[in-house]
Amino acid sequence: MAGLLFGTGGVPHSTKPSSTVSGIERIAELGLGGMEMEFVQGVKMSETTAYQVAETAARTGIKLSAHAPYFINFNAHEPEKIRASQERLLKTARIASLCGAQSIVFHPAFYLGDPPQKTYHTVKKYLAETLNQLRSENREAWIRPEVTGKPSQFGTIEETLDLCTELEGLAPCIDFAHCHARTGRFNSYPEFASILTQVKERLGRAALDNMHLHVSGINYGKKGEIRHLNLRESDLEYTELLRALKDYDTKGLVICESPNLEEDALLLQATYHNLPEGSQSS
Ligand SMILES: [Zn+2]
Repeated sequence: MAGLLFGTGGVPHSTKPSSTVSGIERIAELGLGGMEMEFVQGVKMSETTAYQVAETAARTGIKLSAHAPYFINFNAHEPEKIRASQERLLKTARIASLCGAQSIVFHPAFYLGDPPQKTYHTVKKYLAETLNQLRSENREAWIRPEVTGKPSQFGTIEETLDLCTELEGLAPCIDFAHCHARTGRFNSYPEFASILTQVKERLGRAALDNMHLHVSGINYGKKGEIRHLNLRESDLEYTELLRALKDYDTKGLVICESPNLEEDALLLQATYHNLPEGSQSS
């Protein structure tokens, strides 16, 4: 039972020199369990580097995931922008697979004024094409649409879980800061637990055994997410969140996206491990 592992979104700040390979080594030194490679501004890693990354991750036992570029919109109104979005996700998945990453996270789309239902069908159609392509290449990593932080972005909890029930090879990335920023809610034990219950009911127990989570503090307003904050400077009830994760025996990778990265990742990990076992309060 690996249980829950904790890591950083990107190379830890205390890594010298700053590279993906040294980042993985630093994660291991810090006693953390995983790292998300940030390809958010584009995929620039070479295949040679990817093989070095895979070797380092295997040697240190660090679990890897990857975040695809922000410039993806599976609901773009121009066909060439749809193709470019598919290409960006494919490119991320290909290089991340060489790295041995198990999850590829992406923000699926913007509504651009379209009704949510119409957006859903468009996203599903073009995403299905991309998943078919990856399957034909025998890429095994999970493709994970993320719960997004702004009401203008496609990616409510319901939309994310709907996609995952309908398309094979898809699993959710639940970003708890985004869930909170998007709605102003989801900041208490019962609300965190309700998300985990939904995951279990819609996708089965296996989904809770293979979760990918993003956690950070967050500043938000009427339009949702404004910026990420360090946990202790934010209102996020992270101890309650960790308690819910433990009570549901959630397994997988928690990626910390606070500005201080490894500091909060270590805080989350220590808080989680100091929780009493079986504090079942549901
Ligand atoms: Zn993200």
